[in-house]
Amino acid sequence: MHNPSAQFAEIILPLPLEGYFTYLIPEEMQERIDPGMRVVVQFGPKKFYSGIVRRLVEAPPEGVQPKWIEYLLDEKAVVPPSNFQLWEWIALYYHCSMGEVLKAARPSGLKLESETRVTFNDAYEPSAGKEPTPRERLLLDYLRAKKSCTVFELSSALLKKGTLQVLKELLGKGAARVDEEIRETYKPKTETIVKLGKAMVSEEKLMRTLDLLTKIPKQREMLHLFLQENESLEALHEKAIPKKALLMKSGSTVAVLNALIKKDIFELDELAIERIGSSERATRELFPLLPAQEKALAEIRSAFRSNGVTLLHGVTSSGKTEIFIQLIQEQLLAGKQVLYLLPEIGLTTHMINRLLEVFGTRVGVYHSRFSDAERVEIWNKVLDFQPENHLPTHQLIIGTRSALFLPFTALGLIVVDEEHENSYKQQDPAPRYHARDSAVVLGNMLKIPVLLGTATPSVESYYNALHGRYGLVELNERYSQIEMPEIVTVDLKQAWKRKSMRGMLTPELYEEIRQALTNKEQVILFQNRRGFAPFIECKACGWIPKCINCDVSLTFHKNTQRLTCHYCGYSTRYPGSCPSCQSAEINNKGFGTEKIEEELTLLFPEASIERLDLDVTRSKKGFQNILHKFDRGDTDILVGTQMITKGLDFEHVRVVGILNADNLLNFPDFRSHERSFQLMTQVSGRAGRRNKRGKVIIQTAQPDHSIIARVVNNDYKGMYQQQIEERNFFNYPPFCRMIRINLKHKDIYELERIAGECATALRERFGKRVQGPVFPAINRIKLQYIQVMWLKLERSISVTSAKRQMQEMLDYVRSKDNNKSIQIQVDVDPF
Ligand code: ADP
Ligand code: ZN
Ligand code: ZN
Repeated sequence: MHNPSAQFAEIILPLPLEGYFTYLIPEEMQERIDPGMRVVVQFGPKKFYSGIVRRLVEAPPEGVQPKWIEYLLDEKAVVPPSNFQLWEWIALYYHCSMGEVLKAARPSGLKLESETRVTFNDAYEPSAGKEPTPRERLLLDYLRAKKSCTVFELSSALLKKGTLQVLKELLGKGAARVDEEIRETYKPKTETIVKLGKAMVSEEKLMRTLDLLTKIPKQREMLHLFLQENESLEALHEKAIPKKALLMKSGSTVAVLNALIKKDIFELDELAIERIGSSERATRELFPLLPAQEKALAEIRSAFRSNGVTLLHGVTSSGKTEIFIQLIQEQLLAGKQVLYLLPEIGLTTHMINRLLEVFGTRVGVYHSRFSDAERVEIWNKVLDFQPENHLPTHQLIIGTRSALFLPFTALGLIVVDEEHENSYKQQDPAPRYHARDSAVVLGNMLKIPVLLGTATPSVESYYNALHGRYGLVELNERYSQIEMPEIVTVDLKQAWKRKSMRGMLTPELYEEIRQALTNKEQVILFQNRRGFAPFIECKACGWIPKCINCDVSLTFHKNTQRLTCHYCGYSTRYPGSCPSCQSAEINNKGFGTEKIEEELTLLFPEASIERLDLDVTRSKKGFQNILHKFDRGDTDILVGTQMITKGLDFEHVRVVGILNADNLLNFPDFRSHERSFQLMTQVSGRAGRRNKRGKVIIQTAQPDHSIIARVVNNDYKGMYQQQIEERNFFNYPPFCRMIRINLKHKDIYELERIAGECATALRERFGKRVQGPVFPAINRIKLQYIQVMWLKLERSISVTSAKRQMQEMLDYVRSKDNNKSIQIQVDVDPF
């Protein structure tokens, strides 16, 4: 692949700009440079970026005056060039730049950009004969004075040209360090992290604390460093900086940190997620499969041969995972790598442990919540995978959606578990890719099988399976005759009318819970709203507090006594009285998980009750802890959002309650019925795993709703049939290809004007295929007003040319003088 006559390189830069960027290869690099290596180049007058060499070429495009490559970062490719095929497909299909794909694909620890910090090394002593040159001295003096600054500051404050070369020399002499190097050399298995103390309950409190510390500059500096990025209070409380990194960055001692901990300004914690792999040995053999599983396995194998992509539709607890394990084992023994994709919430210790038990040291875990340094480490291990090694590690990667981009060189199988989950689709930023669909494409490119597994297939996948595009294998029995739960509905309207409700519980559900507790059995209650009250309202004047940045009401969180926006994180103190009319009577409206938890403690004072939602998993206790407690039987009742649908064998769950099915059903989206079915079926699947038949109670004001009837009868096919007919009738996917265009602007009138122009322009080309623009249900988020348009394209139309035409029209509108301030985002196959 090395091409000695090539003097130019096409580079992928992490920018939202289309195409590759051509640079000149300096002579001393020509022997070493190859596609897939990282280089640093200057882009624009002052900025440096690290990018990836896509290919070497002999001439630049016409009219381009290439600059030189500044710096070659690698000795061998960090992205196998074969991976670029997937990147290019994603850029083309999801309508984004290669640079945006690069950002999603590569952990940012692999970057050296203008924002990279360089730190002066206090211990530096020039050795004899290696005294700094005048140019180096200039840079060193600047760095010494500043202690630490970004590459961008350096190059703009100093020489501009050649700064990086000089910096490189200094790094080589040990006079300075790049922060990334600090992070990369630090690779503990668990790490102590520093978090903001719980006592820091408000911005005012933080400000006061900073003031109080004026006289103790080192402590103040450390706190400042922590607060640096001007985040919301909520974000700050989520933030965790490794202790070592904080000490290193601040250049302070442990004593300074300890003083701050003593004052409750900071607290220490162990990082909740450990890196797993490398040390644990496999502890069990594969289970022999039951006849039904064997049959499914044989069908999958034959489907792999004819179709490649295969959908395994098996009811909850049918033993799908054991079938995956058999298929994985085969690949590993053949020296192949396997990618096991899970949605964000599915990647729990429980699932990882199950695979670790069988595959031990061969497992590697890749999760978006890992630090960059950790992800870089896994990246490199996947890259270094050698089937000949005696005990290869990182041969089976379990990961969330971005694991798709890991530099596999010997992939033999991809499993997409819970393929229906919408967290496989990235929403923001671009690339707005769907990991399941991208996995299917990758499988085709590599000619390897892809297995999609779920108890509730997405309508799209089931359609593909029924129409011969995917193989289809079904498993209708639970493992070893565990019975499917009994599902009943209870009419909320009747209960309200009879005034028989106890809080959010109908008498039927109350009675079931009471009995379960008496028998020492467990209960799960599902509610898809977190917080205490979704909104509050002044009884006297009807005032409802809204977010200052978004068009949504603020959710009341009683624990913290704050009103919080779930869209932008804005939060403010709960007012004692109405700021509009001073009335003290403020009502809480609706039920969030926090309120249900409080009511349950009153109704069942003896029971041990836990809550599982985004709010508690952010805090110290964490997701895994709560699940462990429940697993051990220490918890009687678990209340939660959809997080409870994942991650555990709930052995002793007798009762599952869905507190309000209408919240799900009434959501204005063409997928809401499908999603309600999936969610209710998955939640119900938690009931009665092994010893006893479980019972599920669905509380709803619409007990006759067809979707609820399907859930009750476990009628996936009926649900599918109904949905597919509706989608055909109203022309939704899979009968068309949908592209959503989001338009955003700070000024609502400008937004409507420009969106109108876009629609007119698009209609010239696409006619009736254009819908909108309209304001979505929530029409302002983070200070930006939003309008949306949709393109519904026939499946027979070439997507590529349609997208090119769409882009031309949008560019044309945006290029007009008054229209430059509009933000336009394109989302292909929106979810
Ligand atoms: P699913 O993935 O379809 O929800 P699981 O694979 O989790 O189902 O199986 C449910 C339970 O049955 C698990 O506890 C699993 O260990 C057990 N199980 C499934 N198949 C077998 C088997 N062949 N031998 C022993 N236990 C099995
Ligand atoms: Zn009022
Ligand atoms: Zn907001």
